[in-house]
Formats: sequence, structure tokens, C-alpha cells
Amino acid sequence: MAAAAAATPHSLLLKTAPSTAAATPRTAFPAAARLPPAAAALKPVSIKCAAATTHVQDPRPPSPPPLPAAAAQERVFNFAAGPAVLPENVLLKAQSELYNWRGSGMSVMEMSHRGKEFSSIIQKAESDLRSLLEIPPEYAVLFLQGGATTQFAAIPLNLCTPDDPVDYVVTGSWGDKAFKEAQKYCKAKVVWSGKAEKYTKIPSFDEVEQDPDAKFLHICANETIHGVEFKNYPVPKNKGGLLVADMSSNFCSKPVDVSKFGVIYAGAQKNVGPSGVTIVIVRKDLIGNAQGITPVMLDYKIHAENASLYNTPPCFGIYMCGLVFEDLLEQGGLKEVEKKNKKKAELLYRTIDESKGFYRCPVEASVRSLMNVPFTLEKSELEAEFIKEAAKEKMVQLKGHRSVGGMRASIYNAMPLAGVEKLVAFMRDFQARHA
Ligand code: PMP
Repeated sequence: MAAAAAATPHSLLLKTAPSTAAATPRTAFPAAARLPPAAAALKPVSIKCAAATTHVQDPRPPSPPPLPAAAAQERVFNFAAGPAVLPENVLLKAQSELYNWRGSGMSVMEMSHRGKEFSSIIQKAESDLRSLLEIPPEYAVLFLQGGATTQFAAIPLNLCTPDDPVDYVVTGSWGDKAFKEAQKYCKAKVVWSGKAEKYTKIPSFDEVEQDPDAKFLHICANETIHGVEFKNYPVPKNKGGLLVADMSSNFCSKPVDVSKFGVIYAGAQKNVGPSGVTIVIVRKDLIGNAQGITPVMLDYKIHAENASLYNTPPCFGIYMCGLVFEDLLEQGGLKEVEKKNKKKAELLYRTIDESKGFYRCPVEASVRSLMNVPFTLEKSELEAEFIKEAAKEKMVQLKGHRSVGGMRASIYNAMPLAGVEKLVAFMRDFQARHA
């Protein structure tokens, strides 16, 4: 029996399990915490594989598969635009809590969204986000679904009547999509577009004519595809003084004065969590005027009155966002996070600018994104080779968006400086070999 078990892949895995905890993690996260407590409590047990003839009944619950010892070392530097890299210590914490969340005997995925355990999770996530962004009490924080794309419709549906004019500044593809969706629900108008200059600029706002009767002015704070980021926010000239921002790809990457905005919204999957969670921060006096046709799931009033629990929320995603918020607070908050982000971005842009044209970033220097760095190669025929070689070196997802081509390095909060250092070293080496 023992011999048969020893020959199965399962038993091999189980035999290697004890060495898992001794593996050197890349982070300071304690090795002991890398084993789920429930698994740690169980003795290694031989399990017969399905193909074996004798079935052995074990009274203990099946232990989760042991964590691969080399997991930390095998991770790549992931430059994806989203879903994107998450902090390693957050992933390890989630892993350690996955099987049995803090002694509840359940995974977060198995909890009732109305139970005391999940209530504590969502309340802490909201309160940590409030601390991080210093969100004033007159703003509601909603954890929703449907992605930022759903907010392209929800915003006009909640803030306008069908006849209300609204101003859109279009600095890239996402702003354009937001405008096109809004046209269905209000009289949306583009007051400035960077399309003719391939979305490489942001206007000086004194020059932009805004409609005083517009219900709000909409911007995309960071254009993920084009790498264009607002460094100062425009002052809305509409009577209500309302500014609305899509912050999907720079949410929580730096401090923001929330009081300057009517609504801030963001898909979580770039800087603060997995896909499936959309965060909306909305001034409370703007809630409660949704158009009659507004689906219940898009009505801010419904979600605000029900503390984001009108229906089943994306529980696990909210839990993950909560772990990220905790991590950002532990790092010292968003001022510290911004310093790190600036350092990474400066290193990458400097490498591009000092390459004597071998690499090129088309975005005007003053509005270059700290989060998404698009660049091209002077010899564009080498781009595929660049991406392939980088992937071999474990730097992945560097291909630019299909609509613009070239390369794009997304360097969100969770991308360590070491990842950018490795990328620029590779870029210099690639240049030396191909210049
Ligand atoms: N806005 C921006 C700035 C984005 O980057 C994205 C997604 N890449 C979206 C909106 C759409 O978000 P979602 O996929 O969550 O609907």
C-alpha cells in the first residue's frame, strides 16, 4: 500500500510539502504564514490516486494541496495593463487565509454576504479606503460590479435628465468610450479631443470652452492605452461646478483631493484588486435623482442605502481590495506610494529619452503617465523580438494595446522597483545589441 502510494504524483507532492515552509520567500512575509492554518494542522497523509484499486477512507478532511516551494521565485514581472500585478505579500496573505478565514472555518468565497464575517471585511475595506484617500464624510463609497464601462452609462443616468448637456474632455480611447455611451442618456458633447494628435496631449484648460449649463465635466484621469495622465485637474465651469473622473488606471496611485470631484469611479483590476469590483465615490447630494429608466443595479441610491449589499456583491474581490488598502496604509499611505511610483516612472522615461531615439515615447513630457508607459522602437520591425526576448527573461505583457501597437509597460503600485530596474537593464542591453 505504502509503496503504491509512494509512486503516485499525489504522494510525491505531499512528501515535498514540509520543505515548502523552509523555502526562501522573496518578501518579508513570514514563512509560517504561507501555509494555511488548516493545512498546517494536518499531518502528511498518503492518498491513493484515482487509478488505484484499493480505496482508503481517511477520516480527516482533505488537506489543500501544498504550496509549491518555488512559487515566489517563479513569479514573473507582469507589466500587464489590467488585470495586473498585485502586491506579493497581499497574495500570500490571501493564500494563507483562503482555506479558513481567520478561524471562521470558511473561505471568504463561502461566506454569506450578510454575515458578521463579511460585514467586517467590507466595512474595514471602506474605512481603509476612506483613510487612504481622506474621503470626506459627505461622500458615499460604493463597491459595485460591471466594470468602469458600466459607469459610463451609470454616471449620466444618475446625474442627468436626457436633455441635460454634459461636457466630455477626450484624451484617449477610454474618454471616447465614456462619451459615446453617455450620448444615449444625455446631450453629451466633446469639448476637447486629442484624437488628431493621437492622444498624446492634455489641453490647457483656460483654452477649453465649457458649457455653463453642462451638468458635469467628465475626464479620464489616466488614459491606460495612450499613457496620458492629468497632473492638475480642470476647474469645471458649469453652474454646479461638477467634475467627474474615471480613475480606473491611477486609482490610489497618489493622493487626490476628493472634494474637487462629484464622482470618482474606477475598475479595481489595475491598482487595487482583482477584476470584478468597481469602486464609486460619489458626493451624497448627487444621489437620488436617477432617470426613471435606470436599472436598479445602476442606481446609486439603491446601493448607497444598502451599503453596497443590495444584491450579492463581488465578495472575494472586495476582500482582496481590502488587503491591498491595508498594504497601502502600511506602506505609509498614498504620499509614500506616489514617491515610489515617480521613481519607477522617472527611471523608465529617462531610459527611453536617453536612448537617442532607439526608443520613443510619443506622449508630451508634462502629461506622461506614472502608471502606463507606452513606447515604440525606431526600428519597428524589432518590436516583436523585443517582446519575445523580454518574456524569456520573465518580463511579460509588454505588448502595446492592439489599437496603438508598440510596447506598453504598466507599472502600477504593485510593480516593484526591481521590475523596472530589470526592464531598463534589458532595454539598454537590447539597444546595445540592435542599435
Ligand atoms: N477606463 C479606463 C481608464 C480603463 O483603463 C478601463 C479598462 N482598461 C476601463 C475604463 C474599462 O474598465 P472595465 O474593463 O472595468 O469596464
